[in-house]
Amino acid sequence: MTGGAGPTGPTGPEGFVEPRDDVALMEGYHSPQLDVDVRLNTNEAPGPPPAELTTRLAEALRTVEWHRYPDRAYTGLRTALADLHGVDPAQVFVANGSNEVLQTLCLTYGGAGRSVAVFEPTYALHSHIARITGTGVAVGERSHDFGLDLAEVRRVLAETRPAITFLCSPNNPTGVVEPEAVVREVAELAPGLVVVDEAYGQFAPWSALDLVADDRPLVVTRTYSKTWAMAAARLGYLVGPRWLVAELDKVVLPYHLDTVKQIAGTVALELHAEMQARVAAIVEERGRLVAALADMAVDVWPSGANFVLFRPRELDGGDVWKALVERSVLVRNCASWPRLEGCLRVTIGTPHEDDRFLDALREVLR
Ligand code: PMP
Repeated sequence: MTGGAGPTGPTGPEGFVEPRDDVALMEGYHSPQLDVDVRLNTNEAPGPPPAELTTRLAEALRTVEWHRYPDRAYTGLRTALADLHGVDPAQVFVANGSNEVLQTLCLTYGGAGRSVAVFEPTYALHSHIARITGTGVAVGERSHDFGLDLAEVRRVLAETRPAITFLCSPNNPTGVVEPEAVVREVAELAPGLVVVDEAYGQFAPWSALDLVADDRPLVVTRTYSKTWAMAAARLGYLVGPRWLVAELDKVVLPYHLDTVKQIAGTVALELHAEMQARVAAIVEERGRLVAALADMAVDVWPSGANFVLFRPRELDGGDVWKALVERSVLVRNCASWPRLEGCLRVTIGTPHEDDRFLDALREVLR
């Protein structure tokens, strides 16, 4: 989704086939990459998955019947994820990254004449994917501490009656975790489906997974990209009511999950204990990084994720970002994003990478 045509991108010859009017007016989604020593801008895991994963995967790949389509219902992976979360396999839907899970939700429950509600600042893809699928977007505001403001949620839901209400906990890019009572309240208030995006759920103190039930229109989305150090595999899933998963199964393309991916996702779950140990290490490292930031001239938001949002108090955020790049450290530049003026977001890296970041930032702020 990076680059490509947008309002300012390349255009075809006169009279060339035109995209939908709304697509022609859209900007693509951009997440710039630069060639630096320390890359702390995309919330990936700081290291590869356990070596055992590649060994077991290579072994398992010997059995692949390459001339056959994959198991369309991805039974093995679905069952393994269901076992992990103590739910029925019929409550699990898996796709190529949680972005594709979100897209399938919008294709199924959104579309022309329907809308989603988002509360900004939040993950940009919620509104982007909604628009791509022809769904309207109603935007509500978060409170000044970036938590959900229930009065605002009530207003937006009552005025716009969205088919889908997107929550994100921990929220990207702020890191803020919604309290359970707030998510329960939104689930009561929402006229349609509630999606709790828990891409960073494993780093947080609680999960909305316990709220999933057949009589509640709420789903929780998760990803292999962060905790499980498998961003390259493109695997994400949701846990939700059985009746909802049955609808998604109709909408997603046949055989959307290839055999290799199904095996990779299943093998990764065999190493769940190692993955959890990595989560614990990242949470501890987050504590160290936040404590170090607290001694600098920056505002820091409490994070339940594998990244931290901060804002230099005395210097311009964009200038600080550039000065960090000059020191070969890349963080996410949110300084010019609406509602996030001057803010930067740093992913928790290895202790060595984090030290490089902290030293560079100290130097820049001095
Ligand atoms: N949700 C949130 C909140 C995210 O930050 C991301 C990744 N940036 C995703 C979903 C998508 O993750 P993936 O498609 O890699 O599973």
